Amino acid sequence: MRLADKSAMITGAARGIGRAFAEAYIRQGARVAIADIDLANARAAAAELGDAAIAVHMDVSQQESIDRGVGDTVAAFGGIDILVNNAAIFTAAPIVEIDRADYQRTFDINVSGTLFTLQAVARHMVERGNGGKIINMASQAGRRGEPLVAVYCASKAAIISLTQSAALNLIAHGINVNAISPGVVDGEHWDGVDAFFAKYENKASGQKKREVGEAVPYGRMGTAEDLCGMAVFLASADADYIVGQTYNVDGGQWLS
Ligand code: NAD
Repeated sequence: MRLADKSAMITGAARGIGRAFAEAYIRQGARVAIADIDLANARAAAAELGDAAIAVHMDVSQQESIDRGVGDTVAAFGGIDILVNNAAIFTAAPIVEIDRADYQRTFDINVSGTLFTLQAVARHMVERGNGGKIINMASQAGRRGEPLVAVYCASKAAIISLTQSAALNLIAHGINVNAISPGVVDGEHWDGVDAFFAKYENKASGQKKREVGEAVPYGRMGTAEDLCGMAVFLASADADYIVGQTYNVDGGQWLS
C-alpha cells in the first residue's frame, strides 16, 4: 500500500494507459478521480474500479473545464496529492499536409492541457502545503523526430521541457514533477495510428503495428501494465528526491 490515504487525479483515464494507472493506484491504497472528456467512458471505468474511483468530466483544452474538474475532485476527496497529466491526442500528417487547426488542437490538448492542469493542481498543492507528486506523460516521440508525426513529436518534446521547468519551480514546495516516456504501447489508441500508416505508407491493416512491435528490443510492444510500476514509484514517497526527470519505459526502444 504505497499510496495509502492519497488522492489522485488522472486525466484521460477513461481508457488505455490512464485507466491502467487508476487501477494500479487504487491497488496501492489511493482514491482516484478519472478525469476525462468522455464522461460516459469515465463513469464506466469508475464503476468497474469500485468505491475508490470517481468520474470527473474534464476537457483539458478548456480552462473553465480544468478549474471545474480540479474543484470537483478537491471537493470529493478533500485535496489532491497526485496528478497524472495523461490526456493527449495523436495526430499525424506529412509536413506539407499539416493542417493548422489539427496542429492547434494537438497543442491545446497535449501541451496547454498539461500545463494548465498542472498549474491548477499546483496552485492547490502550494496552498494546501502538503507537497505532492505530478507526473506528465511524455513519449519517445518527444525525444526524436518522426517523418510523419511532427506535431505530436513536438508536443511531447514540450512536455519533457515543461517537466524540467515546473519541477525546478515547484520542488521548493515539496512538489515533485517528473515524466514517463513510453515507447509504443498497445491499446485502442493504435487503431487510429495503424489506419494512418496504412494510408500513407501503403501498409496492410495491422502491418505497422506488427512492424513496430518486432523492432522493440524487448521483443514486443509495451502494455499499459508495463508502465504501472514507474507510475506508482513516481507517485510514492520513494521518489521524493527525484526532480524533473523523464524516464524511458520502452523495452529498450530509446537505445535502438
Ligand atoms: P488513449 O487515446 O487510449 O486515451 C486517451 C484518453 O484521453 C481517452 O480516454 C480520451 O477520451 C482522453 N482525452 C482526449 N482528449 C481529452 C481532453 N481534451 N480532455 C480530457 N481527456 C481527453 O491514449 P493512450 O494510448 O492510453 O495514451 C495515454 C498517454 O500516453 C498519452 O499522453 C499518450 O500521448 C502517451 N503515450 C502513448 C503511447 C502509445 O503507444 N499508446 C506511447 C507513448 C506515449
